[in-house]
Amino acid sequence: MQVADDVFSFAGTDVNFVLWRDRSELTLVDSGYPGDLDAVEAAVHSLHRRLEDVRAILITHAHIDHLGAAIRLHERVGAPLLLGSTEVAHARRDYLEQLTPLRLTANLWRPGMIAWTSRIVRAGAMHDAPAPAAQAFDTDGPLDVPGRPVPVATPGHTSGHTAYQLPSVGVVITGDALVTGHPLSRHVGPQLLPRFFNHDEHRTLSALDALEGLDADCVVPGHGAVHRGPVRDAVDRARAHAASGHRP
Ligand SMILES: [Zn+2]
Repeated sequence: MQVADDVFSFAGTDVNFVLWRDRSELTLVDSGYPGDLDAVEAAVHSLHRRLEDVRAILITHAHIDHLGAAIRLHERVGAPLLLGSTEVAHARRDYLEQLTPLRLTANLWRPGMIAWTSRIVRAGAMHDAPAPAAQAFDTDGPLDVPGRPVPVATPGHTSGHTAYQLPSVGVVITGDALVTGHPLSRHVGPQLLPRFFNHDEHRTLSALDALEGLDADCVVPGHGAVHRGPVRDAVDRARAHAASGHRP
C-alpha cells in the first residue's frame, strides 16, 4: 500500500513494515517475524527492486516481530542493521524486554490470544535470536540512508524504542510507540498497545510527547492501519483511550 510519494507500507504476520524508495535504492523499516522474509521479498519485488537494493534496515525496537526477518535479510544482502544506541544491546540480547513464552502462556485466557499465538508461532515467534550485527546510527539528525529519515526517541515500549520521521513527505513511522489496532485489542484507532506488551507503561505514555509536535499528517504504525490526519490527533486519541480504562 502506498502511503505517500515513494513510501509503502506492507503487512507481515499481524505486524507492518515499510519501504522507502529513493531512486533505485530502498530503506526498510522493521521487517516482521523471521518467517516474514518472504513477504519482505515480495514487497521489494512489487516495487520492481531486488533484495540487494535494500541499502539500510532501520528497526524501531528489537522485538522479534519487528527484527526477526531483518536479521535474515542482513545475512543475505549485508545491508546495515541500524537501531537507536540504547536498543542495540537489546537487539544483541544482552537483555530482553519482550513477552516471554511463560508470560504469553499466562495470558492465554485473553480474547483472541490463542488464535494470535498460533499465527505468530507459525511465523517463527519462538525462534528468537540475537542480532550480533546490530549497530547504532550515529547522529541525531537525518540519517544518511535512502529517504534521509529522522530518528525520534520514543522510549517506553522498550527502553530504546525509536520512531522515524520522513519530513519531506509528512510521514511518521511510530512502531509500537503508537499503534492503531492489534489482534488483542478490541479498539480500532490510535492507541497504545495492551499494557502487558510495554516494558515501562509510564514512559510509553510520556513518549507520546515526542510524537505530538512532529509535522506529519500520516502515521504508519507497527500494528493496525495507516492513520491519515495530523499526528497530534492520533496522539490525543491514544491518550484518551489510555485514560478511558478500556485498554487491556
Ligand atoms: Zn510489535
